[in-house]
Amino acid sequence: MRTLNQILNKIDSEDELTKDNFKFLLQLKNRGDIDLLFRKAYEIKQKYVGNKTYFRGIVELSNICRKDCYYCGIRRSNKNVNRFVLKEEQILSAAKWAYENNYGSVVLQSGERNDKAFIEFIEKTLMEIKKLSDGELGITISFGEQSYDTYKRWFEAGAHRYLLRIETSNPEHYKKLHPPDHFFEERLNCLKMIKDIGYQTGTGVMIGLPFQTVDDLVSDLFFFKEFDIDMLGMGPYLVNEDTPLAKEFLNFEEKKDEQYLLGLKMIACARILLRDVNIASTTALQALKYSGREMGLLAGANIIMPNITPMEYREAYQLYDNKPCIDDDAELCLDCLKQRIYGIESEIGYGEWGDSPHFKKKNLINNI
Ligand code: SAM
Repeated sequence: MRTLNQILNKIDSEDELTKDNFKFLLQLKNRGDIDLLFRKAYEIKQKYVGNKTYFRGIVELSNICRKDCYYCGIRRSNKNVNRFVLKEEQILSAAKWAYENNYGSVVLQSGERNDKAFIEFIEKTLMEIKKLSDGELGITISFGEQSYDTYKRWFEAGAHRYLLRIETSNPEHYKKLHPPDHFFEERLNCLKMIKDIGYQTGTGVMIGLPFQTVDDLVSDLFFFKEFDIDMLGMGPYLVNEDTPLAKEFLNFEEKKDEQYLLGLKMIACARILLRDVNIASTTALQALKYSGREMGLLAGANIIMPNITPMEYREAYQLYDNKPCIDDDAELCLDCLKQRIYGIESEIGYGEWGDSPHFKKKNLINNI
C-alpha cells in the first residue's frame, strides 16, 4: 500500500490506515500531492465536525513560570522577559469583550504556578467569568501540571476543557527537551487526571522539533488516538533565540516553509485518524505564513483562538520569536479574522461552545 491514490481510496472506504501509511503522508513532497491530502482531510472534517469554525478568545494571563523547558521563551531562566500577571479586572474585561462579541468561549493560559495564591486566584476568576456571562461563555484552561485537587477545584469553578500538551509522545525525546526534573510520566499522569475529572481533554505536540523523527510524529498521532483525546492543539516548533534549544536548530529562516508544511500535514493526518475531535489551527502556523491559520482550517482544523490579551502585555508572552498579532487590538483582530474565515467559505459558530463532537458522543454512549 504505497501510492497516494491507494491510501486515499483506503480512507474513502473507511479502512484504518497503518503507521506506514501515515509516514508516507507526512513525507509527501510534491505540492500537488500535499494538496490532495489537505483536500481529503477537509472532506473528513466536513463529514464529522461540519463547516463551522469556533472562536475561543485566548487570554495569556501571566508569563511567570516555575518550569524551565528548553524551547520556551517564558522559561524560568530567561532573564530577558518582563514578568507580569494580569489583574482579575483585566481578565474579566477581556472575557466580557469576548462575550459581547459573541465568542462562544474563552481560553485562559499562563506559565505554570502551583502556589495557593495562584490556585485561588484562578478559581475565583473562573467563577466571575461564569457570573458575568450568565454561565454562557465556555471556558478552556491551560495552566500546566497541577494536583488532582487543583484540577477538580477549577473544574467545579466552571472550566470544562483543559489543554495540556504532551509536547512529544516519546519519553526519550521528552528528556532532550526538558531539564532532568521535568518528567514525561508526570505530564502523562496529569492528562489522565484531567480526563478522569471529566474535562474535555486536549493535548498536542510541537512539530518539527530538534531530535524529532517522522516516526516520532506518527507515534504522536497514535498516542492521541489511544489516549482517546477530545481536542488537539499542536503547531510547528518555532525558535526563540533566548532558549537553549535554539542552538540545535540552525538556519531556521531557511527551513520555515518545511516547518509550515509539516505542521499542516500533521493537522491533516490527525483529522484523518481521529475524525470527530476538535482541532485548533494555532498561532504558530500564522507566525510562519500570513494565511497559516486559514490553511490550517483548510487542512482539517475547526478551532481558532484569537488573542484577546490586553495589548500592552502581549509582547511579554513571547514563547517564540516573531509572534503575530501583538500589535493588533482585539477589535482589529476580530475584523481581520472574520474576513479571513469568510474568505475560505467557512461559517463562524457565533455564541456557540462548539464542544468536541467526540466528547459528546463518548458521553452519550456512557450515559445509556
Ligand atoms: N504552562 C502551560 C503548559 O505547560 O501547558 C501553558 C503555557 S505553555 C507556554 C503553552 C505551550 O506553548 C506549550 O505546551 C508548548 O507546546 C508551546 N510552546 C512553548 N514554546 C514554544 C516554541 N518555541 N514553539 C512552539 N510552541 C511553543
